[in-house]
Amino acid sequence: MPSLPAGPLLREVAGQASAKRSSQQRFRDEALALIERESLAEPALSFSIVDLEEPAAETLRAGDERFYAPKLLPQSGRLTALACGVATVGPRVEARVGALFRERSMSLGLALDEVANELLFAVSRRLQDRMLLAARKSGLNLAGELRPGDPGLALNAQAGLLRLADAESIGVGLFGGHMLNPIKSVSVMFGAGVDLPAVRWSRCDECSSRATCKIAPRELVDA
Ligand code: SF4
Repeated sequence: MPSLPAGPLLREVAGQASAKRSSQQRFRDEALALIERESLAEPALSFSIVDLEEPAAETLRAGDERFYAPKLLPQSGRLTALACGVATVGPRVEARVGALFRERSMSLGLALDEVANELLFAVSRRLQDRMLLAARKSGLNLAGELRPGDPGLALNAQAGLLRLADAESIGVGLFGGHMLNPIKSVSVMFGAGVDLPAVRWSRCDECSSRATCKIAPRELVDA
């Protein structure tokens, strides 16, 4: 599954309107230039849509994995598969952030970390778009979005989700039990099926950062 060209993603992040003070903007610009100059961004994504092995129930079985995820059970329609995906910006950018902190270049390190998060968000949008497209091509729609550790999907679902998404193919694995490695990676699971209605919940509903989160509204992928 593909590596993505970093250029368009970098231009997308660079073009995002910023309300930062001029000094912050300077470090942000420097961080973007650093990523380009040192080829720090290695965006990649991988996913698969895996048929359920038995009729949908609170514990969903797919690809020899089991996930307790009753939130994915639809009010109507038919849940027939799980769509599991993973995206990353690779390990180089977080290593460079660490090096900057060790050199005490804190402002540039923070700016680079923030830009890396924005890049990851841009890659995860590509992932969602491709998952939606693949589902539609198979006559399915997606509903609900869960990430391991969200209310509704335990953190220990991470390993199974990564396996189904073939995360290994893009160099994403686990460290410390359930944490993603590289850190600047994200994994996601959607319910997939026929005539699934849009869900009324979001993974953001119970998040303590919701009030200040700038990306929450865009996290809500339509069904
Ligand atoms: S509110 Fe923001 S931080 Fe919280 S889950 Fe949603 S996107 Fe993530």
